Amino acid sequence: MNHKSLLVHRLFRTAVTSLRPISSPPASSTLLARRFLQISPVLRSFWSENMSEKDFEGKSVRELLQKPDAKSLTEEDYKKKLTDLEYQVTREASTEAPGTGIYNNHYKPGAYKCKCCGIDLFVSDAKFRTTCGWPAFSESVGKDKNIVRITDTSYGMERVEIRCKQCNAHLGHVFDGEPTPTGERYCVNSCSISFEPAAKQ
Ligand SMILES: [Zn+2]
Repeated sequence: MNHKSLLVHRLFRTAVTSLRPISSPPASSTLLARRFLQISPVLRSFWSENMSEKDFEGKSVRELLQKPDAKSLTEEDYKKKLTDLEYQVTREASTEAPGTGIYNNHYKPGAYKCKCCGIDLFVSDAKFRTTCGWPAFSESVGKDKNIVRITDTSYGMERVEIRCKQCNAHLGHVFDGEPTPTGERYCVNSCSISFEPAAKQ
């Protein structure tokens, strides 16, 4: 590593280390480093030349950029990674109160990913305005490429529950007979998803 690379590398490590205590929910430095790299193409291209460094809890930058192995996370890991409400919704199939979620009235262009494992679930083009109180989508990424449907008979109703195919996070329900191009409405908890803004043109 040359002098300049080493300096940037140290700065990056310092930023990750100092942000860790104030992140909410508390994140490991691996998770924070991964987030930095995911949102910054400049950092990614810089590190493509220095991929063998193992400075982030023993992981190289290449390892940080790989999809986390969702199956290897334990419920304890999820408790640390998620807020109480996010945990209750995604891991215990609870539902956030209507009209309270951060993506309920959110219409910026971008992608919605699984809160637990980060896999792509929805895009903003499929999101539409409803009065139901939860984010609503007319379709999912790749026609349920990353979603499984399960018949849910709780509360004396027959509904179709949707879960993340990769990590089994509860997302919400899907209803048919809706005034959308697909005839369906994916009714999703804001707690179950995170938003990645579209790159500026
Ligand atoms: Zn997931």
